[in-house]
Amino acid sequence: MQDTTGLFRHRNPGHTLKRLLDHGRAYGLPRCIDQLVSPGAARNIAKMVDTRTAGAKAEARSRIMRGVRKKNTKPELLVRRELHAMGFRFRLHRRDLPGTPDVIMPRHRAAILVHGCFWHQHVGCRHANLPRTRTDYWLPKLARNVKRDAQTEKELVALGWRVLVLWECELRDGVALRNRLQAFIQQQ
Ligand SMILES: [Zn+2]
Repeated sequence: MQDTTGLFRHRNPGHTLKRLLDHGRAYGLPRCIDQLVSPGAARNIAKMVDTRTAGAKAEARSRIMRGVRKKNTKPELLVRRELHAMGFRFRLHRRDLPGTPDVIMPRHRAAILVHGCFWHQHVGCRHANLPRTRTDYWLPKLARNVKRDAQTEKELVALGWRVLVLWECELRDGVALRNRLQAFIQQQ
């Protein structure tokens, strides 16, 4: 075995393997494995990586299936940055509230939901266009999201929160966004 990259300097096999996997990811796995280990070891490592990748894919899939929204998305960060610049204080992803709202401002009793146009099916928005294939897969899933959103809003309102839904496609105009946020937060 070569030691050109220092991958095998460590005696701890677990550590070595982890480093190998990390390097493999960074430099392209097949090359890395071929150059550094015996064919048998390469097979084992490839098997392990396969399992890991499959695990990650399955996890992502089940996250989507469960309908758990991704947190800290780009649109969400944009809204948070804006609020911060405006000098507002806010809290994130309060799990004890319906739908785990992206942003809440307890002092203003305000909840802000930032929705991706496709996943939450922004009505009339071109980004919400349905895929032409596998409609039997997409339709029920997206319908569930829409239903859940409506339920979340209803429950938040019932608990005395004011709700602002911001769609991803509406965030590009910074001035407009700021005006909307200002108006929403200040209106009581
Ligand atoms: Zn949209």
